[in-house]
Amino acid sequence: MITRSPANVQIASDLASSLASSPSSPSGAPAWQRQLANVVRDPVELCRRLGLDDDALPGARDGHALFEVRVPEAYLTRIQPGDPTDPLLRQVLPLVAETDAVDGFVADPLEETDHTPRRGLIHKYAGRVLLIASPACAINCRYCFRRHFPYQENSPSRAQWQETLDYLREDTSIHEVILSGGDPLAASDRQLGWLVARLEEIPHLKRLRIHTRLPVVIPARIDEALLEWLGGSRLQKVVVLHSNHAHEIDAEVAAACARLNDAGVTLLNQSVLLRGVNDNVAALAALSERLFEAGVLPYYLHVLDPVSGAAHFDVPDEEARHLVETLRDQLPGFLMPRLVREVPGAASKTPL
Ligand code: SF4
Repeated sequence: MITRSPANVQIASDLASSLASSPSSPSGAPAWQRQLANVVRDPVELCRRLGLDDDALPGARDGHALFEVRVPEAYLTRIQPGDPTDPLLRQVLPLVAETDAVDGFVADPLEETDHTPRRGLIHKYAGRVLLIASPACAINCRYCFRRHFPYQENSPSRAQWQETLDYLREDTSIHEVILSGGDPLAASDRQLGWLVARLEEIPHLKRLRIHTRLPVVIPARIDEALLEWLGGSRLQKVVVLHSNHAHEIDAEVAAACARLNDAGVTLLNQSVLLRGVNDNVAALAALSERLFEAGVLPYYLHVLDPVSGAAHFDVPDEEARHLVETLRDQLPGFLMPRLVREVPGAASKTPL
């Protein structure tokens, strides 16, 4: 049964509100929320802070107009100033190439809007559903396949959240709920704690999976308040991080991963194969090694989803297969991510 006490209704309302706006940072807010409120949003500031030449500015402004810049300070400090080829910079700096229209690159490459039986709920695969728990991200990744996702149309009201929970309760074939976004951990702990408590009341749910980039880009997100609702849940907990390069995993990120591991969370990582970021064997091997040092197992290496504005990141399939075959010669099997593509309408990820 869903509890509809006044407190729960208020939190449900807060959760719904969070879907419509970026998190605020009231005084006394946790450190991670203050960092979230102070991300770099100005493409000119981004270029200046990183000592880039002025010739980067027109592209940065044009790309920003299509998908705004967002870079947290904790991520910015890992970028090598003055190096336009830095693999972390490539993921956050808009380029003029984003304005190119390229055949086959579209706004909704995974046709997700065809699989939303309830607002904010995507049901594509057997046994599991995905909830858009927050429309906000701490960082805007230039290759994001949801860069055009209609979050406003998928921001449930309070009543619609109850309908989503009813949908989950009525379909006993669903055993796993995946929190996604945006970034689900951009929602507050109060909101997420409420949602997870409601999910725990549904007996046939076994697993909670959270797909997030926040522990990588703002590792302070993994604080006591988060560990309280996550670590205390009866559901089996899996956090799938999203990291694409070994330089993203510094000591603070490794410490955040250790806190999650200590709380009984299984940690996996998924990456996207990106031209100019990790499209070589050395970078992929270093990423797997660094992940494992931090207690994280490599899970998937996705080829790029063909979203408009990101074609310059594309690596052809043949080259991707060759990279992975070469990587296999260098790594033990448990450090090998599976090379996959997400095909609209397919029953699962498609191995390449
Ligand atoms: S954090 Fe994830 S959802 Fe957000 S922009 Fe990056 S890839 Fe997209």
